[in-house]
Amino acid sequence: MAFPTPVAVSSLQAASAADWDALICIAEHFTRLPDAGLTEFVASHQAIDQRIGRETVTLICPLAAGKRLILAPTGPLLRDYDDVRCFADVAKVAIQQAKAAGAVRPLIWLQAPDDARYAQALEVAYLAAAQALWQPLEGREARGEQNVEPVQQIGLLGLTDAQAAFLVATEAGRRLARDLCGTEPERMTPLRFADYCVDAFQHTDVKVKVETNTEQLLADYPLLMAVARSSLAVARHKPAVIRLEYMPAGEVTETLLFAGKGLVYDTGGADLKINGGMAGMSRDKGGAAAVAGFMKTVALLKPAGLRVIAEIGAVRNSIGSDAFVADEIITSHAGVRVRIGNTDAEGRLVLADLMSHLRLQAQHAVNPTLFSVATLTGHAARAVGPYTALVENGAARQAGVSATIAAAGELWGDPSELSSSRREDFAFIKARTCADDVLSCNNAPSSVTARGHQFPMAFLVVAAGLDQNSALSHGLPYVHIDIAGSGVDGGDWQHGKPSAAPVSSLAAAYLS
Ligand SMILES: [Zn+2]
Repeated sequence: MAFPTPVAVSSLQAASAADWDALICIAEHFTRLPDAGLTEFVASHQAIDQRIGRETVTLICPLAAGKRLILAPTGPLLRDYDDVRCFADVAKVAIQQAKAAGAVRPLIWLQAPDDARYAQALEVAYLAAAQALWQPLEGREARGEQNVEPVQQIGLLGLTDAQAAFLVATEAGRRLARDLCGTEPERMTPLRFADYCVDAFQHTDVKVKVETNTEQLLADYPLLMAVARSSLAVARHKPAVIRLEYMPAGEVTETLLFAGKGLVYDTGGADLKINGGMAGMSRDKGGAAAVAGFMKTVALLKPAGLRVIAEIGAVRNSIGSDAFVADEIITSHAGVRVRIGNTDAEGRLVLADLMSHLRLQAQHAVNPTLFSVATLTGHAARAVGPYTALVENGAARQAGVSATIAAAGELWGDPSELSSSRREDFAFIKARTCADDVLSCNNAPSSVTARGHQFPMAFLVVAAGLDQNSALSHGLPYVHIDIAGSGVDGGDWQHGKPSAAPVSSLAAAYLS
């Protein structure tokens, strides 16, 4: 996997001209560039070209590496609502200009105000540039990676080697997440998703186990297999559960457990998506992709004391004569009788069984925290898009889990908003008769349902057995992460690039 390697460069004077072929300057103003000659050059050009300082421009400059000088102004930075994405946005524009000009080893100099919100501005600029340069896996496979992704290295002035190593690990995770999320449904069937994970973790400390045996899955993941039922007739569409585990050398002081929703394709099932609503549903595996991506970052950073366990359900929600339907009552792995309300609310079924397995592992784990990560509801996109929605239980709130992730995300340009789990959410999904224990979903679109991204978290708690005595007595902190609003650039599920949210916030919160 090749992505532009971040390289720490101590100063412009130390940067060998032969190593770099463009200089990108990102700042609010260009009155104090890292070299007096450059400052003078820009001032003289500004007098005759008023675009300089207002929009991103490329100038031919004999003083710059490769004679390419790209000036990328951020605009105002210190208003109440400005955040580090001011740097991310302009870094994307600048790196595209560098690539278009033919640069393959651009060097970035960045000037941020002395303000806490910009502490990670240089790293954020790199991650945004890497995001902008990433090309879809199918495109790389068809046209050759070196042709569609020509940029090899990005120099970062003032970065330390330790910071560069953290960026390498973070971007490797984000790249894996984008590759897994952004790929069409035949290239990334459940089994090929599993194969991609096996390859990605070869020769690392993350162990990968893939369960594909239908009988075993039926016994262990009954809700997941209800979703998969009409895919079983097609051999290449059969489901897989992928288990990833990182065990640190030495003592474990904290355990993170992740469930990832990996709907490689979501037709909606018998409650079929209509009126064009199906396009883009190959990206319904973004939660699983982000979980695998975070594990990749873990694999590269090898944190001490932190054990990380993940279960990914890679499943296709097809439609066919054996499709599960609304009104069926299916007993979950946790022994909870679930009444299916709508087959398009399939992600929570997959997650509930994964989480039930993780619940059992959490009982014997040191200091555990549980997460579910998913493109779960249109409501999350309506309510907080383009942010990630974090819905947490009482134990997580007490431990400040969401607040920590949100604070990290704010600094790293991967922001989220906090939601709470409330009693109304549990009332919404409660059984109406003794025939079942819980209802999976109502039948209006989540985007027009009050608390449409919060109540599914209540379902997950009940269906996964988290409210059963053993889990309650442990007070297991649990955060449900809905990336339906943040999972792709611009909220365009068909064409937008996968954003890899929330890989960098999790990395900053737990691995930095
Ligand atoms: Zn669905």
